[in-house]
Amino acid sequence: MITANMPAAELKPRLLAEIDARRDDLIALTQDLVRIPTVNPPGNNYLEICEYLARRLKKRGYAVELIRAEGAIGDVDKHPRWNIVARREGGHPGETVHFNSHHDVVEVGRGWTTDPLGGELRDGRVYGRGTCDMKGGLASSIIAAEAFADLYPDFYGNIEISGTADEETGGFGGVAYLAEKGYFSPERVQHVIIPEPLNKDRICLGHRGVWWAEIETFGRIAHGSMPFLGDSAIRHMAAVLHEFEEVLYPALTQKRTEMPVVPPGARQSTMNINSIHGGQNEPEEGYTGFPAPVVAHSARIVIDRRYLIEESPAEVRQEVVDLLERLKAERQGFSYEIRDLWTISPTMTEKEAPVVRSVAKAIGEVMGVDPQYVVSPGTYDQKHIDRIGRLKNCIAYGPGILDLAHQPDEWVGVDDMVDSAKVMALALVDLLGPE
Ligand SMILES: [Zn+2]
Repeated sequence: MITANMPAAELKPRLLAEIDARRDDLIALTQDLVRIPTVNPPGNNYLEICEYLARRLKKRGYAVELIRAEGAIGDVDKHPRWNIVARREGGHPGETVHFNSHHDVVEVGRGWTTDPLGGELRDGRVYGRGTCDMKGGLASSIIAAEAFADLYPDFYGNIEISGTADEETGGFGGVAYLAEKGYFSPERVQHVIIPEPLNKDRICLGHRGVWWAEIETFGRIAHGSMPFLGDSAIRHMAAVLHEFEEVLYPALTQKRTEMPVVPPGARQSTMNINSIHGGQNEPEEGYTGFPAPVVAHSARIVIDRRYLIEESPAEVRQEVVDLLERLKAERQGFSYEIRDLWTISPTMTEKEAPVVRSVAKAIGEVMGVDPQYVVSPGTYDQKHIDRIGRLKNCIAYGPGILDLAHQPDEWVGVDDMVDSAKVMALALVDLLGPE
């Protein structure tokens, strides 16, 4: 046991040794978590995993709340959206460090050569769905917090650990719900670390923005043998796609960002067309006839535009509207509607923010390297903490190789988990430790 007046310089090496000593505990915890299949959709076993975490953390002096996201998107009685927030107070007043992990995983999929729910330990890796994204990160943060508080129970401030639902499907029944209830308000929490698998020497500062919209073009139905008596919505949509190819896509490649997005291909504006549909609906299963000869009266696409911190959401939208308006002026019979589906602003925590500096320093101390600062091409739960919670001092940092997420034979390296647990523990010393 270390006394309250132990200096940080003495605490740190003992803490690193303590985490090495807990290697088997870290492996076993990861395996236990993987063996609770929290596949989303539909969102299975959320209560089970929260109860498992509650049993463990209560024994360690945490005050535990299980919170169902009543009425949130995705919350139904058959698949209730359960979350856990655990809080342990130190010996003196101070700031709160919150580790947030999502406990849901994506479907198993095909192509596995090992049991996807087995948590097999082989060659220094734990295998299974969710090991990398992100039960290995959750386990690492728990071990880091436990080791820190066991050696230095008199710490300043508070440690919180949450396991939250539905990150893989937007996070509305998870972090968004908790943020709306005030769990991520700057008055309650001052530092947030999300142990997503970004590699143990990288700090993820934020993500690009998102704008999803559905565009519909209209036509007039007629007999397919006399298309000149109608007006094809599909041909109008083809004109939209042609404009995208000729005008919009070249313009997007010109928009470069200062954000350090990885992979570098995403260091510009991008747009995906998620889906396209025109004309008659797909026939029902079992229908054996031909389609009917009709001119399409409607065609729809859904676009997924990812934008940069240098762009405003209004100009991102206007760029597409201008293109559609030009077609309307130039092209006979062209009419359209555009429906916004959702928008998320880009976010990027300052490199000088306290949580960034503490984790960067810890990466140097544990691994002897300077951290790489990155930004994610897609969003994750930081979006809700930033927008609803109003908390800017938030990063993603955790073990695991991002490319393995959602793949068959997903794994997380035990050494990587140990190293990132050490980084998280030293960051705690920096933020909540002795003067
Ligand atoms: Zn994840």
